[in-house]
Amino acid sequence: MLLRLNCADGWMRAVHICGMAAMLMLAAGGVAAVAAEPEAKPAPKAEAPAADAKKPAEPAAEKAAPKLEIVINAEESPESAAWAEKAKAVCQAYYPKLIEELASDGFVPRTSVTIVMKRKYFAPAAASGGTISVSVPHITANPGDLGMMVHELTHVIQAYPGQKANLGWLTEGIADYIRFWKYEPQVAQAPINTKTASYRDAYRTTAAFLGWMSDAHDPHIVRKLNARMRHGGCDETIFKDLLGKSVDELWAEFVAAGAPSSPAALAAMKAKTAKEAGANGEPKGEAKGESAPADAAKPAAPAK
Ligand SMILES: [Zn+2]
Repeated sequence: MLLRLNCADGWMRAVHICGMAAMLMLAAGGVAAVAAEPEAKPAPKAEAPAADAKKPAEPAAEKAAPKLEIVINAEESPESAAWAEKAKAVCQAYYPKLIEELASDGFVPRTSVTIVMKRKYFAPAAASGGTISVSVPHITANPGDLGMMVHELTHVIQAYPGQKANLGWLTEGIADYIRFWKYEPQVAQAPINTKTASYRDAYRTTAAFLGWMSDAHDPHIVRKLNARMRHGGCDETIFKDLLGKSVDELWAEFVAAGAPSSPAALAAMKAKTAKEAGANGEPKGEAKGESAPADAAKPAAPAK
């Protein structure tokens, strides 16, 4: 299914233009450092064995978890086949976890995907239906950008129909949330300039907003947003529906909280807040002195 959305550069596409974030990151001088190290990320929770034991949990995830078949088309650029094999391994290893992260009732994720290596392409990568197209020049310059494929794979299973409003920013934000807050939480992110940023910026900014929201309001908010988006007909009121606050109110909270741009930044921010609360609370005798270090010691919380 083709989706239409505005991408970061203002293009209206009937595909998910991905790797825009990578381009932005490149501009910021950071993408080359993104080493996806697929082998270091064991296929998330091999849940298959336990599947029967917890039937009521997530039937959609259990059904689809088995395997993702990936066909590589490197006809245009045979020299890129080796990179494509690495990308295939990343996608296959992460797919069960991705399905789990974005599980929703009745949704059956596709079981096959094609990766097409393109000698010339308008973006670093893009997803349309079950096809992920990848720019060979981009991966030649950024061979470590395998995390880009997790972003693309997220689009493959988002499978959103049309929305009431253009929520392309949320579509891209969820894809980068999966990539940077779940798959590559260790990757440092540039600070968000809260004077100019908006939740509509998509990609990393929206991903950070969602990461903070998951911590501050509801650990399952991304899954819930995804489920609603899959139904279609959404507009920005879904935030009010799900969290009781408008997206603008939530953004104001995010900014007031320091707009943490990564799981590590969020953990540091919470540690600082806890420390200050402890210090400020002492005179009143409500300091909860022990809770400060406890909060500070769970940096992995937003990235589990
Ligand atoms: Zn994208």
